[in-house]
Amino acid sequence: MEKTSLKANSTSILEEKVLDWDSVQRSFSESFGAEIHDSWLKHISLVKEYNDHVVLGVKTRFFRDWITSRYADKILSELKKHKLSINRIEFRIEPENSNNSKVAFNNSALNKISDIKNSVLNYNRLNPNLNFDNFVVGKSNNLGFLSAKKICSQLSRYNPLFIYGGVGLGKTHLLNSIGLELSQKNKVMFISAERFMYQFIKSIKKNEMVNFKDFFRKANVFIIDDIQFIRGKEGLQEEFFHTFNTLFDQSSQIVISSDRAPNKLDRVQDRIKSRLSGGLVVDIGTPDYDLKLNILKKRISDYQSTFKENPDLAEEVVDYIAKYSNFNIRELIGIFNRVVAYGKMSKRSLNVSDCKIILKDVYNTSKVVSIDKIQTVTSNFFSISLADMLSPRRSRPLARPRQMAMYLAKKLTPRSLPEIGRKFANRDHTTVIHAVKTIQKLIENNDEMRKNVEEIKSLILSD
Ligand code: ADP
Ligand code: MG
Repeated sequence: MEKTSLKANSTSILEEKVLDWDSVQRSFSESFGAEIHDSWLKHISLVKEYNDHVVLGVKTRFFRDWITSRYADKILSELKKHKLSINRIEFRIEPENSNNSKVAFNNSALNKISDIKNSVLNYNRLNPNLNFDNFVVGKSNNLGFLSAKKICSQLSRYNPLFIYGGVGLGKTHLLNSIGLELSQKNKVMFISAERFMYQFIKSIKKNEMVNFKDFFRKANVFIIDDIQFIRGKEGLQEEFFHTFNTLFDQSSQIVISSDRAPNKLDRVQDRIKSRLSGGLVVDIGTPDYDLKLNILKKRISDYQSTFKENPDLAEEVVDYIAKYSNFNIRELIGIFNRVVAYGKMSKRSLNVSDCKIILKDVYNTSKVVSIDKIQTVTSNFFSISLADMLSPRRSRPLARPRQMAMYLAKKLTPRSLPEIGRKFANRDHTTVIHAVKTIQKLIENNDEMRKNVEEIKSLILSD
């Protein structure tokens, strides 16, 4: 796993220790938030420190994969704050020492079960505010809504129900609504795939796999959010497959959400993909103007009934937000809240040009986006490697994502065309111009393309 060059380095006189790991951990906690820190980053140890890079220890391969795929960039920039010369991180898998697992063995089986239960229950809470009543139905989500309702009235008629769609389009809202509706009369388990994985890893570490299996297989309604997290994680897929089969065989209702269709889940075992698509598969599309408008109207009336006052938005303002916001409902609601807050603060009713300023702020200045990030998100989105995306190959499955990333680099960063070109394996600025024009034209004429660009954009801006 380790590069041999590292060994040679280990005696290097350049080795210079300045990192205070406790304070690094504190800054992780501040910048990533307590939950991510507790679940993941806290478990990273500092193994070795060199002048220009560090070797960090993690317990398992899952941990490593998960952390590198989500947090590597940000970890690096945090580390740089403590020691500027660091420009690379390597992860080393350092299995937990066997003494610790022996301690776990000594605990009674009962304790272990309640351990799992407590930690899962914290994340198994259904949100009472995400229910069917406040889910606004439109063309793009009608089928998803009807299917969700249907399985509530006829358990295991369609099994599994698989709902997919881009970020912020209402998947979690629907899953949560199903959970709420069914929880009175059933044993509902509602968990994100990420959390499922975390429990899984924890159970392996503590030798509690038997309890893990028991716990998850007791549900007669099993709802799992964001299943795309299992991509590329073999051990987790194995466990999910068995959980799925047991639940399915005992006729438990299974509900799954994903950011893409079952057959598009690359790096997922075929047998799982076929199970996932064996019931009812529905997609949630991007909302059209009408749906966005209705969601805003619903928000306004909720606001009125909650705060007993009017948010004071002129019709033309609401209309403007619906028209010019992104195709992402989470963001739409964010903009709405911002506009209302802005209006309250300035104690006057806002007009369209105020809105323009606020929207511009949301899209441009509030986020610092790096070209690296654009490249990573885009290549992940199309499931191609970064190296392929930057390579000179011209086949369309590589060239389109490459052009899209260049386009987004132009739109979302202040970088100049030559700078962007350089970041794309030293391409000429004319290549970047060509890419921007090509994508621009495609966005205007091709729905699929527009949808993809919107989705990638919101992925880039969403964390
Ligand atoms: P996803 O899980 O697809 O990323 P969410 O379910 O988290 O999206 O939805 C994002 C936000 O938008 C949530 O606040 C949710 O309540 C809201 N939302 C999404 N779709 C609707 C809808 N049809 N009606 C009302 N609110 C919605
Ligand atoms: Mg979600």
